[in-house]
Amino acid sequence: MSELDRCCPSATPPSRRAALGVLAAATAASWSACTTGVASAKSTSATAPSEPTSLSGDAGRSRTRLLLLGTAAGPTFTPGRAGIGSVLVVGDRTYIVDAGLGTARRFGQAGLQAASLAGMFITHLHSDHLFDLFNLLWTTPGALSGPVPIHGPGRAGALPEPYGGKSVPLVDAGHPTPGTADMISGLVAGYAYDMNIRNTESGAQTDHEKLFEAHDIVLPSGTKASATETSPAMRPFRVFEDDRVRVGAILVPHGPVFPSFAFRFDTDEGSVTFSGDTTYSENVARIADGCDILVHEVVDLDWFAANADIMGGYGPGILEHMAQAHTTPRQVGRVASDAGVGQVVLSHLAPGDPRAVTDGTWVKNVRKAYKGKVTAGRDLTQYGVGRRR
Ligand SMILES: [Zn+2]
Ligand SMILES: [Zn+2]
Repeated sequence: MSELDRCCPSATPPSRRAALGVLAAATAASWSACTTGVASAKSTSATAPSEPTSLSGDAGRSRTRLLLLGTAAGPTFTPGRAGIGSVLVVGDRTYIVDAGLGTARRFGQAGLQAASLAGMFITHLHSDHLFDLFNLLWTTPGALSGPVPIHGPGRAGALPEPYGGKSVPLVDAGHPTPGTADMISGLVAGYAYDMNIRNTESGAQTDHEKLFEAHDIVLPSGTKASATETSPAMRPFRVFEDDRVRVGAILVPHGPVFPSFAFRFDTDEGSVTFSGDTTYSENVARIADGCDILVHEVVDLDWFAANADIMGGYGPGILEHMAQAHTTPRQVGRVASDAGVGQVVLSHLAPGDPRAVTDGTWVKNVRKAYKGKVTAGRDLTQYGVGRRR
């Protein structure tokens, strides 16, 4: 199973899907059906969810807003949902947490401007959290107000033993675990011709290498964490601060993916914690302690168990992986209760198709362990943060 599959193991091999007749027209999803294609197959008469094109939700008079760009788990095209990505808007500045497939378009649909970008924060280096990172920065580079700090995981340092114990092909085998700074410098190098020709044909003085200011998140000294001990109990630590936000991080357990972080943003008006991809974790409860909004990932293991017959050749291994890498609704409720948060917003929904698991089902199951307000996130929904509500 590839790393990509490990984040979204429901990606059924195309031949298997065809044999099952899961997708009649699989062109767009031929590389990965994830949960969406499977759900579609079981609800062929249901209408595909419509694509949101403008903001919904009520942020009240809050100057600080949580805005969901994309809410789907996995590297997949999901009807009605972009890949995972959120924005914290603080006045005229925006801070992005993860940038999955489609989030650059959602950023524009939300009416946000590239010049507002004041920071990007990447929870971990799975592709479904990265696809639009460069697009967000590069689609309108001239409009950036200056270098954008990008904070994300550093080099893992080692890969885990291959699944099944059999060796697997590696990309760049001499340097197989690049971190955020490596990734950004590689992207800029790969786009060099485009950047150079635009400058030379227009006479622009854009110093592209300085626009993308990548920082590998450095763990506090003494943290006993590694590729084999991914999320020891620890205290949150500071990764970024300006005059609008303070951003803290903590390690979370996301299967073998290391480092994986949860982030907490504190502003003058209130606080928001993003769990990142994680299984149940006391570290998430620790960093979310008393915050106004907890944005938490979630997986419906019952749905995956019920649909195991059309999950390709993965069998029960899927459920094992999902349990080790993601969080059930009831577990989200436990984290929220332990942390005493003001409300829960579910995102990174697996499966993401609302025809597979309804908003009401997600909410009901979280509320078995948490009595506060719970919302199943939808793209382009905004929430007011803090005391001006
Ligand atoms: Zn992941
Ligand atoms: Zn993910």
